[in-house]
Amino acid sequence: MKITVAGAGNVGLVTAVCLADAGHQVTCVDTQKEKIEMLRKGITPFFEPGLEPLLEKTLSNGQLRFTTDPKLAYSNAEIIFIAVGTPAKKDGSVDLSYIYAVSYTIAENIQNDVIVCTKSTVPVGTNDVIKQIFHHRKPRHLKADIVSNPEFLREGSAIMDFYLGDRIIVGTDNPEAANIMEQLYLPLKIPIIITDIRSAEMIKYASNAFLATKISFINEIANLCEKVGANIDEVVYGIGRDKRIGTSFLQAGIGYGGSCFPKDTKALVQLAGNVKHPFELLESVIKVNQSQHSLLVRKAKEIMGSLKGKKAALLGLAFKPETDDIREAASITIIKDLLEEGAIITAFDPIAIPKAHQLLGNSIEYSTDIRQALKDADFAVIATEWEQIKHLPLNTFAAYMKEPIVLDGRNCYALREVQRYPITYVSIGRPVISNVKPISLK
Ligand code: NAD
Repeated sequence: MKITVAGAGNVGLVTAVCLADAGHQVTCVDTQKEKIEMLRKGITPFFEPGLEPLLEKTLSNGQLRFTTDPKLAYSNAEIIFIAVGTPAKKDGSVDLSYIYAVSYTIAENIQNDVIVCTKSTVPVGTNDVIKQIFHHRKPRHLKADIVSNPEFLREGSAIMDFYLGDRIIVGTDNPEAANIMEQLYLPLKIPIIITDIRSAEMIKYASNAFLATKISFINEIANLCEKVGANIDEVVYGIGRDKRIGTSFLQAGIGYGGSCFPKDTKALVQLAGNVKHPFELLESVIKVNQSQHSLLVRKAKEIMGSLKGKKAALLGLAFKPETDDIREAASITIIKDLLEEGAIITAFDPIAIPKAHQLLGNSIEYSTDIRQALKDADFAVIATEWEQIKHLPLNTFAAYMKEPIVLDGRNCYALREVQRYPITYVSIGRPVISNVKPISLK
């Protein structure tokens, strides 16, 4: 099929590359000229495991091309995917300006009947507005079917998720369009669920809100474990044996981040508010998460008192491993809090430093070498569970740091291992280990 993908971000680029690899003729269009130039040379603008080799392959076999020209992109596509950004506005509602702008551009440039498929995460009812835009702006004699096809890929495993996703949601009121979308996705052998458009839009928000709820729930249980002397590892193991609960997304830590959960949960609260349905549960989920981001700095102050002039090693900038995405990462809140307290920070991350530098500039130091970041530090804060951090020999902390105080926001180490080393170790929902000198946490 002739497919165009609008937006060469995490979703659009992965979709374009994977569909091209599946044998379709794909054009990926973006408004950012520099991005398109990089992509034409086979360079990806962000890190995603496995993406660059697939990009090179599909560029060289001619299945994929990149453009900034709307005419070239939209004039003879059979299916057009919208994968532009839907960032949060200050009040938590969704900025739909990119969605509407791209809809106008597509409608004005199509020259044949087309299916327009929204992959971007958009509030319920947005595809109805897109329909209206096409109704008014497309050439009268052409047909444009609007389909909602929300995306569930996870950064860091996006290629695998494209091929091995749990389900594909296709929201449409037209059986013909549903049939074409089924044909497109059939080779992936992933269950396809056909719904009406509004339900498809809601499925995306409800999925992310539910996962965020699991995270905040287990973090609250972890916080309680600390207060009553229980251990979250054992609690999760115990409750996870219940098949109705399971163990996934029950990893206690310093909260969720990234480009989706924070903005999608806030958007759903807004959406509910708009129809006079206060979503109190989700409001609490968001509040718990915000508090969780600041937890380690509060703990550091409890242990050390003032952090003014103290040297902190911040291990992990990305919001999760295997990505260089720092959007809404817990690390950013921690850095801001630490700087406010007067601490001096050296941050380690294997790949997210360039993105962090764009945001934080020279307010902190950076290193891709963990040992260098730890050298002479008064305390270390673990914000991302990178393999390099999880497999760091535990004697490194005492060997390199001035004071081996480790605040682990991702529970990277087994307590029985930590117990063998001369460090002070504070994690989430587990007993504090202090093999250096006794400390007390409230
Ligand atoms: P992104 O910000 O990384 O990329 C969006 C791209 O769209 C940018 O390159 C931008 O230049 C481009 N763009 C903006 N206006 C355009 C236009 N008129 N024509 C062509 N290109 C245009 O965003 P993303 O992370 O890929 O997310 C895209 C959407 O998918 C969002 O709605 C997001 O919520 C959703 N989503 C994201 C993920 C994820 O893991 N990142 C997962 C599932 C769903």
